[in-house]
Amino acid sequence: MYFIANWKMFGVPKSVNSLNRVIKFSKLRKNNKIKLIYCPPNTLLNLFSKKLKATKIGLGGQNCHEENNFGAFTGSVNSKMLKSVGANYVILGHSENRSLGENDILINSKIKASIKNKLKIIFCIGETLAQKKKKKTHKVLKSQIIKGLKGVRKIENIFFSYEPIWSIGSGLIPSNKELESNISFIKKTIQKRFKVNKPKILYGGSVNPNNVIELKKIDNINGFLIGGASQDSKKFIDIVKKTFK
Ligand code: PEP
Repeated sequence: MYFIANWKMFGVPKSVNSLNRVIKFSKLRKNNKIKLIYCPPNTLLNLFSKKLKATKIGLGGQNCHEENNFGAFTGSVNSKMLKSVGANYVILGHSENRSLGENDILINSKIKASIKNKLKIIFCIGETLAQKKKKKTHKVLKSQIIKGLKGVRKIENIFFSYEPIWSIGSGLIPSNKELESNISFIKKTIQKRFKVNKPKILYGGSVNPNNVIELKKIDNINGFLIGGASQDSKKFIDIVKKTFK
């Protein structure tokens, strides 16, 4: 099971101290079934990398530029630069970036560049509330998967994170029935399209230590992408503990 912490635009250098509790937990736990990954803002990647060096906790960026090489792109960071400070993962296609104008074609270029630079991709897909109400969820998910992964071969390096947009940061989560149907649809779509047997599928959207007790019952979930709750180490650890209880 993967537990991925998306810190979004939160954190300053002293926030690194909150990792102490998680590092201690991960050393004591020694459970090969658990993989923790932190995705802090870019300003903290170097610091996190040093802090996590002697641990099994992974490190990732939250987005990157689609250009593979260095270049005149003010304010941007590419996958090569993420890799150079110790990241092995990158979140791409997050709805907070899609809502700022990132489309499937751009996300596809970012995925290809990141794979070239040997990063694993946490590829976010999900429907809006309006799309859900119009019963378009499966259509949207299929289109995001197919367009986002056009021409991508190394599907085993992709984690598919199903994140209903209406669930992110809202405290609302889909019913288990709905989630089972959507996750199973995602799995079948990937299997059919890319001929991979066991794609890794995560769920993201308001995961917390209480609702994870229900969420963990869902078949075919390989972990969670956790935003708000991951900034509190105690809650993050509780989510992990309750998943295995
Ligand atoms: C996210 O940012 O991917 C996310 C799932 O956020 P939250 O857990 O806060 O809903």
